[in-house]
Amino acid sequence: MRYLYGPVHSRRLGLSLGITLTPHKVCPFDCIYCQLGRTIIKTRKRQSYIKSNEIISELKEFLKSPALKSAAPDYISISGFGEPTLHSNLAYLIAEIKKLTLIPLALFTNAALFYDPEVRRDVLGVDLLVPSLDAVTQGVFREIDRPAPGIKIKDVIKGLVALRKEFKTGIYLEIMLVKNVNDSQEYSYKFKEVIDRINPDKIQLNIPVRSTTESWVMPPDRERLLQIKEILGPKCEIVA
Ligand code: SF4
Repeated sequence: MRYLYGPVHSRRLGLSLGITLTPHKVCPFDCIYCQLGRTIIKTRKRQSYIKSNEIISELKEFLKSPALKSAAPDYISISGFGEPTLHSNLAYLIAEIKKLTLIPLALFTNAALFYDPEVRRDVLGVDLLVPSLDAVTQGVFREIDRPAPGIKIKDVIKGLVALRKEFKTGIYLEIMLVKNVNDSQEYSYKFKEVIDRINPDKIQLNIPVRSTTESWVMPPDRERLLQIKEILGPKCEIVA
């Protein structure tokens, strides 16, 4: 299988079959905590990075396989080796996957392109959206996510606020917390202000635990993590 991986146990969704929509590693960001290493093509250009019919053929094979009977996934997760919303045939792929199976479909995204109404429209067919938001100010955004030129955090936030109005099913907003970068108490109050406007169904605090692109990246102390959870309120959970 070239585009499917797993099913693997995911901390948030149980048993999850992954699908990648980009080759390794095409992304508008180059996050310091990324487990996939440095971004090879840093872009916000949407195009057909992988042939949609090849992905669908692989999924059909998987759905016929004995592996499905022995361990049916709780979710099919579109995520993979880059940013899935860069794939220009995303809406078509989501519709085709939904025709093939009743397994719920989740999409993991860095939310970089949601300023574009067409990208927001393209994701409306999934059952669960898991966007990430690691910063609410341009300086911290640049430091942690190292975005492609021209991407502004204020546009990412505006895109997420608009998405919430258009997407009525589940939105789990993930924040990756990195020690001494975005984990101060003061910064958590800034997060809260913005997240209240986005109004996700859940806020999931994550920490870097495995190999990270930059070796100096550290998780916040447990005590700080609990403080941040407290500040962000009852919808917030620690998933690490
Ligand atoms: S958005 Fe995801 S894939 Fe892209 S660099 Fe960040 S962690 Fe890696």
